[in-house]
Amino acid sequence: MRTFEELGVIPEIQKAIAELGFEQPMPVQTEVIPQLLANTRDIIALAQTGTGKTAAFGIPIIQKINVKLLSPQTLILCPTRELCLQIAGDLTDYSTYVEDIKILPVYGGSSIDSQIRTLKRGVHIIVATPGRLIDLINRKTVSLSNVHTMVLDEADEMLNMGFSEDIDEILSHLPEERSMLLFSATMPREIEKITRKYMNNPVEITIGRKNEGALNVRHLYFMVHAKDKYLALKRIVDYYPNIYGIIFCRTRKETQEIADKLMQDGYDADSLHGDLSQAQRDYVMSKYRNHNLQLLVATDVAARGLDVDDVTHIINFGLPDDLEIYTHRSGRTGRAGKTGTSISIIHIKEKGKIAQIEKLINKQFEKREIPKGDVICEKQLFNFVDKIEKVKVNDAEIERLLPSIFRKLEWLEKEDVIKRIVSLEFNRLIEYYQQAEEIYEPQDGSSRRNKEESRYKKGDRPENGSRKAENGYARIFINVGKMDGVNPATLMGFINDNVKGKVPVGRIDLMKSFSFFEVPEDMASKVVSTFKGMYVDERKLVVQLAQDEDKPERGKKKFFENDNGGKGKKKKYKY
Ligand code: AMP
Repeated sequence: MRTFEELGVIPEIQKAIAELGFEQPMPVQTEVIPQLLANTRDIIALAQTGTGKTAAFGIPIIQKINVKLLSPQTLILCPTRELCLQIAGDLTDYSTYVEDIKILPVYGGSSIDSQIRTLKRGVHIIVATPGRLIDLINRKTVSLSNVHTMVLDEADEMLNMGFSEDIDEILSHLPEERSMLLFSATMPREIEKITRKYMNNPVEITIGRKNEGALNVRHLYFMVHAKDKYLALKRIVDYYPNIYGIIFCRTRKETQEIADKLMQDGYDADSLHGDLSQAQRDYVMSKYRNHNLQLLVATDVAARGLDVDDVTHIINFGLPDDLEIYTHRSGRTGRAGKTGTSISIIHIKEKGKIAQIEKLINKQFEKREIPKGDVICEKQLFNFVDKIEKVKVNDAEIERLLPSIFRKLEWLEKEDVIKRIVSLEFNRLIEYYQQAEEIYEPQDGSSRRNKEESRYKKGDRPENGSRKAENGYARIFINVGKMDGVNPATLMGFINDNVKGKVPVGRIDLMKSFSFFEVPEDMASKVVSTFKGMYVDERKLVVQLAQDEDKPERGKKKFFENDNGGKGKKKKYKY
């Protein structure tokens, strides 16, 4: 094992990272740091979060900055505001003893004026989300002509979020002679395209195997009827009394509903999704980070910026449509050398996906039965007894009260006192499980086609099911989909609330992150122009005539634009 010194890291940075507790380089650091310092080749690093990748690129980047040249020399692009702030914070930590390094996080949703002022004063490293950076480029307030190193972090996430064109545009502003690093947890085909297009004979580094989940994560699944999913979730949470977990749901609406139900049922839970304001999201995230919240119910997009090392369990409340997302979700546990468990509550129709994920992560799932009531109560009870054993007694504080308490309980035997304490804590739980029906796994063929199941069935369809519009109708693309909580009724309502006159909406095809709907041909251009430049919750809407092959017009595809980088009509709307 080589030391940071042997990798060529300068003493100033060694000192700072030693203070952060970095004793030895992690594998991704051993691979990337010397390569980047030597500036030899472009690098593609396949590394999950939690592998130490920020330091792998952050340390050499700081070391290579010429502080005398007060102009951006490194650009780091990442998908979300939270990640942007986190990377900038980490880089600031590594550069504690390197004088005068200026690092600027640039992201949407915060004052652009103050970012412009800082840029004018001069910075060396910019960490940016794509939308806001493009805004700054368009305002000519940032020059990228001295950038010699460019990092795309969480590249697969950026593409998932529809930033592909923004990345294209940003790269066109960089000098030809620059080295580029791309970090990604997975390697979908779109990333390969980027690497072919923009990278020069890149060296590929894989930390762990390609697409493999973290080694110390166990993968369990529970199969239940769709109607039992929530009850199963409660039992699973009850079965792990010390859980500190994230529950992933598919849509904002489902996320809120599950969080609400858990809260009503007395769990320490809260929700994190895109319908919340930035301030609300920050509040929930900080509550969770500080362990003042046990269960975070989140959408994939909203949880992206959350970086917590000691998550014990990930619960997939249903499997994601895009199975690579499973790797991201489960990579949020089992970090920093700890073990973790990734649990999936699935219904019978999702069984085939388990085999696909097993291939993807190169690991077997363990199939489990939903814990029975008596087993849960026993587990909770022993956990409680364990706590009684281990609790720190603050003698000084309670000393004064103890004599009168002892006097009051004098007539009870020790066994009686114990029984009463336990009953006080557990009567409700025991009663609940005495009355609750056990949850059984559905048998093949017996699954009822209820509403929820058919909804998921539809979600399994390939996303670009190509079709032509009905006669007399035009097919229109919109960049919102099921992930945003859109359903046919809300989409129709949304169209009719905004477009003047009644629009008879024909066929609707909802996909995960975008949708198609049909309107009479003579109304199509009115519909498209109504939505032009409109923002919903800080996200730019893209509404355009679908091409024959059902793909959004070339050069315009943009499923997400989270940071409201551009200008336009702003509108608050819930789908
Ligand atoms: P990342 O993959 O960049 O999100 O890093 C995951 C975690 O590992 C962060 O909390 C880092 O501070 C920590 N870390 C990074 N490098 C090291 C190291 N060499 N030794 C110990 N911890 C590290």
